[in-house]
Amino acid sequence: VISIGQPEHSVVTTCAYCGVGCSFKAEMRGEELVRMVPWKDGQANRGHSCVKGRFAYGYSTHKERILHPMIREKVTDPWREVSWEEALAHTAAEFRRIQYQYGRESIGGITSSRCTNEETYLVQKLIRAGFRNNNVDTCARVCHSPTGYGLGQAFGTSAGTQNFDSVEQTDVVIVIGANPTDGHPVFGSRLKKRLQQGAKLIVIDPRRIDLVRSPHVEAAFHLPLRPGTNVAVVTALAHVIVTEGLCDENFIRNRCDWSEFEDWAGFVSEERHSPEATEALTGVPADALRGAARLFATGGNGSIYYGLGVTEHSQGSTTVMAIANLAMATGNIGRPGVGVNPLRGQNNVQGSCDMGSFPHELPGYRHVSDDATRDIFEKLWGVTISDEPGLRIPNMLDAAVDGSFKGLYIQGEDILQSDPDTKHVAAGLAAMECVVVQDLFLNETANYAHVFLPGSTFLEKDGTFTNAERRINRVRKVMTPRNGYADWEVTQNLARAMGLSWTYTHPSQIMDEIAATTPSFAKVSYAYLEEKGSVQWPCNEAAPEGSPIMHVDGFVRGKGKFIRTEYVATDEKTGPRFPLLLTTGRILSQYNVGAQTRRTENVVWHEEDRLEIHPHDAELRGIRDGDWVRLASRSGDTTLRALITDRVATGVVYTTFHHPTTQANVITTDFSDWATNCPEYKVTAVQISPSNGP
Ligand code: SF4
Repeated sequence: VISIGQPEHSVVTTCAYCGVGCSFKAEMRGEELVRMVPWKDGQANRGHSCVKGRFAYGYSTHKERILHPMIREKVTDPWREVSWEEALAHTAAEFRRIQYQYGRESIGGITSSRCTNEETYLVQKLIRAGFRNNNVDTCARVCHSPTGYGLGQAFGTSAGTQNFDSVEQTDVVIVIGANPTDGHPVFGSRLKKRLQQGAKLIVIDPRRIDLVRSPHVEAAFHLPLRPGTNVAVVTALAHVIVTEGLCDENFIRNRCDWSEFEDWAGFVSEERHSPEATEALTGVPADALRGAARLFATGGNGSIYYGLGVTEHSQGSTTVMAIANLAMATGNIGRPGVGVNPLRGQNNVQGSCDMGSFPHELPGYRHVSDDATRDIFEKLWGVTISDEPGLRIPNMLDAAVDGSFKGLYIQGEDILQSDPDTKHVAAGLAAMECVVVQDLFLNETANYAHVFLPGSTFLEKDGTFTNAERRINRVRKVMTPRNGYADWEVTQNLARAMGLSWTYTHPSQIMDEIAATTPSFAKVSYAYLEEKGSVQWPCNEAAPEGSPIMHVDGFVRGKGKFIRTEYVATDEKTGPRFPLLLTTGRILSQYNVGAQTRRTENVVWHEEDRLEIHPHDAELRGIRDGDWVRLASRSGDTTLRALITDRVATGVVYTTFHHPTTQANVITTDFSDWATNCPEYKVTAVQISPSNGP
């Protein structure tokens, strides 16, 4: 409900959509949100915003929001509204029963990148201190877990190296597997502005994204690679830089392990990595590869921005490491205008990773096998923490199908829609005895839930989000939670029902605990955030003002690590039955699976997902623009309307995935990143054919 009345007061808070983390003034009349005004003092957005943050907040008061807890014995039973006390007591009793019957490892939980840092911290704490295991994972599993692995290996920590301001000093930019003008619009605008000032652009993407050619911007190079060949392309760029003597030897000698560099340089110099050898594999012309490599190495400050087109591959982690190699080889780390920058999709995906949501890591990216780190939390929480990593989401589902995993607490995620291999997710959920979904709406996963706990929106709570530049922004309560409790309170009440004596009265106390236990957050407090507006971690004694740029004098791990990145073709192959490759992306007005944006007025800008098909491929099959098309893979099929365009190359089709009817994850495979299990959403062999509609 959007009021047309005049506001009476305003509250500054942070957008809950993408990882740019724009600040807004929520202008209110009583409990009614009149409008969201981009805040000019917002340090991530400086008064700018996109149509999602500005207009797509109506879901908060949408009639489909669930406001009362519900339980049911079997998932075929109707839901029964109950009190919060009954719902939480029932959940606690069920989780305890399951652990008694099947063992301590038989339950786990999933945190949300949509929730605040404080809420995420509490969920992993509940699992470690209450469930007494490490079976915690996050939706970053399906997006940026390869960033965590790859940047951790190369630099020693899992985060973008730069602040957004850095783009103003860049001279040559590689955008790989990202579409900033749609996915991260406010940052995309800043990038465009810099390009208009003369910075050069290299786009590595199977699709001709807007940045390649728009009214005021034209990329110097577009490398339209075949989906799944990122590693080969980046290694070919490295081949040119090394063999033509374009490396920054001074940087490498001072900042990196020289013997590892020599090993890597020998590897990339092999003829099989040359642009000429790479052309046939990737579809990218050799002269474009050579030209792009020379430009990046000699064009001044070089920066790299990447997205899910890098990570959501069977070689996602390898590509992240290849990108890190490229930045180190050219000396493009540790100062303004350069760096390696993952563009985070969700508002708090950085924060959910920072807060220890992985089964192998405690807050601050410290491995559970590290005795000193476990000791900190064990003393504070009064428990023993296992030094063995717990189960990842796919492992939880596998174990459920096998019969050893029986209970799951899911806060703010719709894994049935967002995770790969929908049939397997459904089978895993169906095999569990207690699935608890905490969310705003009865999402797809809730079809398999035994308990539904109503979630709260970002407008209804205090906390912090951490954006893609590691900026910790305050989220401020704008209105009373319509469901009665903020999400952090629900987790606390569940913990209490399970026998833990938590006594937080405000999220600021949770942040104080994070600061006390996590060195990179040591100086962060709500009082400090009020004073500074926001800070970028690490923020501690060594960096009291925070760290806009990382790895300035040395890498977190000491010496930067060059790693061989061998290209290995995905097991997903095209063939006579499935001759095309499907890849996916987003559109500006919508967000992820659309649970929120589809319940706002933004839906008028994008009423359906369409399948982009090259005119040649369409003509071959007798498909015209707007026709219904059956899209089939080895995993399943769905029906979409065609959009005929040469944005995609022949042999490649593309769709967005904002509407549940698209069922993109029915199509995708169950292949995943070798290091992190991040699903390979970006490469699926498909066939298309005319259809009469769904
Ligand atoms: Fe800013 Fe992203 Fe929100 Fe748009 S969706 S207003 S770019 S944070």
